[in-house]
This record gives sequence, C-alpha cells and structure tokens, in this order.
Amino acid sequence: MPETAASTLQALLACPACRGLLEWEADRITCAGCRNIYPVQDGIPVMARPDTADAHKSRQAGYFDEHEDTEFEATRPHGTPGLYQWLLQEKFRRSVAGLGPGDGATVLTVCGGSGMDAEFLAGNGFTVVASDLSLGAARRAKERARRFGVEFAVVVADVEHLPFGDRSIDFSYVHDGLHHLTDPLTGVAEMARVAGRGISINEPARAAATAAAVKVGLSVDVEEAGNRVERLRLDQVRRALEERGFRVTTAERYAMLYRHEPGTLMRILSLPVAFGLTTAGWRLLNRAIGRFGNKLSVQAMR
Ligand SMILES: [Zn+2]
Repeated sequence: MPETAASTLQALLACPACRGLLEWEADRITCAGCRNIYPVQDGIPVMARPDTADAHKSRQAGYFDEHEDTEFEATRPHGTPGLYQWLLQEKFRRSVAGLGPGDGATVLTVCGGSGMDAEFLAGNGFTVVASDLSLGAARRAKERARRFGVEFAVVVADVEHLPFGDRSIDFSYVHDGLHHLTDPLTGVAEMARVAGRGISINEPARAAATAAAVKVGLSVDVEEAGNRVERLRLDQVRRALEERGFRVTTAERYAMLYRHEPGTLMRILSLPVAFGLTTAGWRLLNRAIGRFGNKLSVQAMR
C-alpha cells in the first residue's frame, strides 16, 4: 500500500467493537480499550470482529475469498468490450452525480469487492479506503491498485460493524454490495453513522421488471455465493437516510442489464455502429421508462 494511503487508513481506523484507539504493530493491531486483537495480513488490516461472525457472513466471505476468476475481478472493466465499460462508467457517473466533486475528500467503499469502485473514485479525485468482508477480495483490490498505479487503502471490514468512528469519513459509498446482507438496511444505518458529509447507495431495485426477468431466467433471486438478493426500494432507503439527518440529493431508478462477465452479445454490441445504436437506445429507454428500472441510486448529504 502506498505510504499516504496507509497513513490515511491508520489515522481513520478505530476498533469495530468499542471504537477505541488502536496500537499498531507490523502483524497485528491491538485495541487499547477492549484489548481485541486484529491481524494484519499481507499489509491488510483484518478488522472484522470474530464475535459477530455468523454462518451467512462466513459463507459469503468464503465464496469471495476463493472466487474462481481472480484476474477478471482484479482488472475489470479494463480489457472488457467497449459497451461493458460504457455501462459501468454510466453507473458510476450516476452514483456520484449528487455528491459534488471529489477534491480529496475521504470516501469509504463498503462491500467494495476487488476495488473497481475504489479505482473509479480515486480517478475522480477522492481519497479512497476500500473495504470488504472477504480477505481474498481485499487482496485483489490491493493487486488492482498496484497494477494500475492507483492509490487507495484496503481493509477487511464488516459493513454491519465498521471500524470507524461516527462521522469520521466524508463519504460512504456502496455499489451492488448491500444486497448480500440478510438485512441491507443495517448496512445503510452503519454507512450513515460513519459518513460526515454524504452517502451514495447503488443497488438492485425491487422492480416488477426484475421479477419478470427472474421468471424467464435473465436474473436471479439467489446468487452464486448463496445469498438471497435483498433488493431495496427507493422510499425505504430515502426514509432510512432522512431519519438519520440526511438530505436526499438524488433518488432515482434506471434500467441496466449486463452479465457480470461479458459474453458474445456484449462484444457484438461493442462494434462501432452497434455501440452507437445501443447506447443511444439505452438513453432513450431510460428517459422513457427508467423510473421502473432495475437499479436504484440514492445520494444524500448532511
Ligand atoms: Zn476495542
């Protein structure tokens, strides 16, 4: 981890159990308050509390620790077809539109996987801490930072018990992560607690279109990792944030469909003329019926 990313993280981290100050050693971190010990593995602080682990979390972390396609996860969307990159850029553009410019503000990505969001955010001027419950995913995020020369810090953390003090980070951010939780709203609450300025939540929406897509096999209710997809509603997220003193700046749904790993269709639609037609069609579709779409983005400021 580059020096500044490491020192940013060191300055921000607190004990996830008691929020106490931490004593740092090369291979472990000890809480000065409750004396809990957190290992440091390959330079990555593992700040998940053993006492809050349960079968669901272990299964989720285990799946992402041993994800089969390390190379794809650590590099996507680099090297993917143009349309796939465009779609992810578009998702990302929407996810920060209501936050204002990065300008060096600190942002924590939760359920951040292999660091794709962290890379996007760092490229937009944020100082990024990438977190995930899976050490395997955290390792891939670190590899991504090294390979593409992007600076962000990496930590293993449980979104339900984040190792940060109240309002200690400017922004908290999630992209397709909370739907892995038994109750996504516990993640929303914890993200709101640590965010001093704003929050961005980007998740699958509970949509009639999705229910239809599940029926015909275009979408799933249970993912490969074994979790039920807990889809959120705009009004739920809005209410949860307003109750915690946030002012919602963006609350929208839009339609987007792509396979996690791009296939033949994505490659064909990325050819010059097809790309222009597809992206133009996608824009028209979203202007017309985006509000019924399968994705949601809610952004809010204090
Ligand atoms: Zn403690």
